[in-house]
Amino acid sequence: MEQAAEERRVLIVDDDPMVRQMIVAHAESADFEVRDTGDPREFLKMQREWRPHFVVIDLVMGDMDGLDVLRGLAKAGSEAAVVIASGVGARVLDAAHRLADEQGLTLAGVISKPFKRAELVALLNAQSERHEPATAAGGRASEWSSAEFSAEFHAALRRGHLSVMYQPKLACSTGAVVGYEALSRWNHDTLGPIPPDVFVPMAERTGLIHDLTSFMMRESLAWFAGLDAPPEVSLAINIAAVELAEPKLDARLLAACRTAGVETSRLIVEVTETSAMEDPVKSLEMLTRLRLVGFHVSLDDFGTGYSTVQQLARMPFTEVKIDRSFVSAITKSHDSHVLVATMVSMSHGLGLECTAEGVEDVETLRALNEVGCDHAQGYVLARPMTAEQIADWEPPVDVLAEVRKGA
Ligand code: C2E
Ligand code: CA
Ligand code: CA
Repeated sequence: MEQAAEERRVLIVDDDPMVRQMIVAHAESADFEVRDTGDPREFLKMQREWRPHFVVIDLVMGDMDGLDVLRGLAKAGSEAAVVIASGVGARVLDAAHRLADEQGLTLAGVISKPFKRAELVALLNAQSERHEPATAAGGRASEWSSAEFSAEFHAALRRGHLSVMYQPKLACSTGAVVGYEALSRWNHDTLGPIPPDVFVPMAERTGLIHDLTSFMMRESLAWFAGLDAPPEVSLAINIAAVELAEPKLDARLLAACRTAGVETSRLIVEVTETSAMEDPVKSLEMLTRLRLVGFHVSLDDFGTGYSTVQQLARMPFTEVKIDRSFVSAITKSHDSHVLVATMVSMSHGLGLECTAEGVEDVETLRALNEVGCDHAQGYVLARPMTAEQIADWEPPVDVLAEVRKGA
């Protein structure tokens, strides 16, 4: 994939000249434009002036360590994707990873020294592919005022620029399709695709989330009704925090199901952990009401909030979705493996089903199967697809065969 030169600038800080030279050589050989320094202060200055697309940071340096550098980057509002490279143990790397995340930095990944050329290059390339197309439109859209957003959003609804993608959810052990999650898409006529991570929060702030959810319910339920899937297959839709506090949410969902002719027991309402805990009393009431009329309720992004197990156990969830930050680390860090295994057994202990999201490779899927996780979603199985693409899609038998071979 061709990249413009300004999108491939890499700045490296490492106080060991040998290591630095090696990283420079690796990155240059993969067509990145590279600059380097051994001095953290010089590094912060260079990043302000040169505006690199990537920074590679050594965690352990002399008087100013990698954590200070991360803080400096965050303070300067750096948009560079950060690669943390270090010889320290996996636990410390994990902690640094979280720290960078919490300070709002974009993390390309963590590599432990000594690392191979392929490892670094794969990380840089994957990051370029993942983030380049989306961020430009998303960046523009996030600068809209509330009034601009409302006008744009209504126009998009009218002109059919909003659409739904469906991502299959598969049973880890058998590979059977157990459901689909509906995800919204906005293809802006001049800006291009705007990611839901940008427009969903804006819709929440401006009160337009109601219209988005109504659109999603109508579209996805009509599609699902026409699918004629076996009775155990479900449809999941995402509900925002503000809507949980809305007294008529259950009635709206019920009406939408009736109109489409879909039984309530086939719909899963996904609520993020943070949303559910925003107003736990109201959430508990709404979730209970949803359950009473037969909907399933799922706890999305599990592990990213600050709720206690006790708080969660009180809520009538039927499923837990383990956040992809844990899932993607399961084969790389012992701690993450332990965490995921614990989440799975906790879910089962509470009588809940367990889904892992963001499953990107066979090894991860195999590890999930081994710890007894029920379901999986992720690029290795299926990307979110349009209704037309779903009609032609078949489960990836090669991937599933690989998983079983290892079992
Ligand atoms: P989510 O509910 O956690 O959805 C999963 C996200 O992970 C989706 O991003 C999906 O495309 C992506 N994904 C799936 N498999 C993989 C994988 O293997 N690797 C990686 N890296 N990512 C994967 P998407 O579609 O961009 O949506 C982002 C978030 O926006 C969603 O996170 C959800 O919180 C929100 N969202 C999307 N559509 C709606 C909607 O209609 N209503 C509401 N309230 N929120 C929505
Ligand atoms: Ca979700
Ligand atoms: Ca999620």
